Amino acid sequence: MADIHDGVRKYVEPVEGEKAMSARSRATIATTFTSLADHVEGALKDLIAGVGGVDTPPLDDVAVLASLSATDPELTSAIALNEAQWRNYLVMIPSMNVARKEVRAILSSRLTDIYAEGFDITGRYYTGTGPSSVVEDLACERAKEVFGASFANVQALSGAPANVAVYLALLTPGLSEFTTTRDGQIPTENYAANPADRVLALGLAEGGHLTHGLFLNFSAKFFDFRHYGVTGEGFVDYDQMERMANEMQPAMILVGASAYPRDYDYDRVRRICDSLEAPAIFMVDMAHYAGLVAAGLMKNPLEYGADVVNFTTHKTLGGPRGAIILTNDEKIHQKVRTAVFPGLQGGAHFNNIAGIAWILGFARTQAFKDLQKLIQDNASVLSEALQENGIKLCSGGTDNHLILIDLRGQDFTFQPTGKDLNGRQASECLERSGLIINRNGVPGDTRKPWVTSGIRMGTNVLAARGMGAPEMEEIAGLVHRVLTNAGDPAVEAEVREKVFALTAKYPLTV
Ligand code: PLP
Repeated sequence: MADIHDGVRKYVEPVEGEKAMSARSRATIATTFTSLADHVEGALKDLIAGVGGVDTPPLDDVAVLASLSATDPELTSAIALNEAQWRNYLVMIPSMNVARKEVRAILSSRLTDIYAEGFDITGRYYTGTGPSSVVEDLACERAKEVFGASFANVQALSGAPANVAVYLALLTPGLSEFTTTRDGQIPTENYAANPADRVLALGLAEGGHLTHGLFLNFSAKFFDFRHYGVTGEGFVDYDQMERMANEMQPAMILVGASAYPRDYDYDRVRRICDSLEAPAIFMVDMAHYAGLVAAGLMKNPLEYGADVVNFTTHKTLGGPRGAIILTNDEKIHQKVRTAVFPGLQGGAHFNNIAGIAWILGFARTQAFKDLQKLIQDNASVLSEALQENGIKLCSGGTDNHLILIDLRGQDFTFQPTGKDLNGRQASECLERSGLIINRNGVPGDTRKPWVTSGIRMGTNVLAARGMGAPEMEEIAGLVHRVLTNAGDPAVEAEVREKVFALTAKYPLTV
């Protein structure tokens, strides 16, 4: 038999007791694998056999751009500017990270061309899907291993579709009791004839995500979302969650957020779910902090009885764009599968799934754990240093990779108007200074989401550059200098030069 890496060959070996139809599909794929492995020559043959690896990074980004520029200089110019920005500015948006060269090389592989609707090596609608099915299975197996889950789905195209899939799989859609408009809440006509399942989630202004029931989002259009908030100190208000759950008897309680710097009391949420007339489904959306969970640095919600756990693969985890849905419950897994495909999507993105498999392979290494630790330690040092500079943080610190600055009541003035600095102005002053962060609502914010009274920053990319505590202290000083001189072009130019010096000292090498 042709030489194929054992880990791949095992997928085409006969499976005892398998149904005849599946056995025939597997045998067909075996023919494809062995005939191709026999036919090809040279490097490809070696790589199929699992040998021939070289220890050099797979991508030279500038060389790729140079070859693109010959056919499309205009597009290449924009991409080159993005490259220059990543290299020379400090990108500190907590939902972003740098996908390593290995991941980006995989994204450009011919897996991008594959349609492989269905699941499992013998459960596809098209032929020619053997290699991509192995890729998907490796991603699922690694996800289960890294997060200690019994079942994994890696096909959702991103975090929002993954959330849709779970809602569609586990909840009954219908009307909300109240319809939220820009002017407030009004009772919904005909609600009693077609009530939707209720979901209790963290409010958007408190750090929740659009897909957790923003009135403009599909989630609030098809399901009845109500929101708990945070305490005056900025921590999830579990007492309020419990009170609301008792009143509204939700079908699901959702934990997890986009702008919440703390870990969660999953034990308490599980108890609240179980105390209801019909136990609520306990869902966790750990889109932001999945990398820290994978490294054992934050609590793993599956160990605290979460029924279903969603996350994106491109934030702390550092993979390509995509999402994973985990559960320990086979029935939930089966429902989620059907909801993802054919319920919601056609073909999945197999180049992304291969990139997910790669980052999950990396997640098993000490290098990954060290990187995640640096992300978390850096966030902690940065939050301390910002506070030492007199800057107010929501919840007074962070347990994860992100920091939320509350700009209110801090005497920050936007010099061009002489009025209080808002989130939008602050984020633009910082961009002009070479610091890419985002404006963000803060608890109790009265400014519109387009303006906001806060800014959010994260340490994923700073850690990927190898920066540590001294650089976090320097960056805190730079942020303070910009905020206390908001809108002063001379200060922005001065800080930008300091950022250029920092990024030159800590180049992006991954
Ligand atoms: N869930 C949470 C908590 C998020 O923060 C995000 C994105 O920021 C998403 C879901 C949506 O992910 P995506 O943008 O990949 O659709």
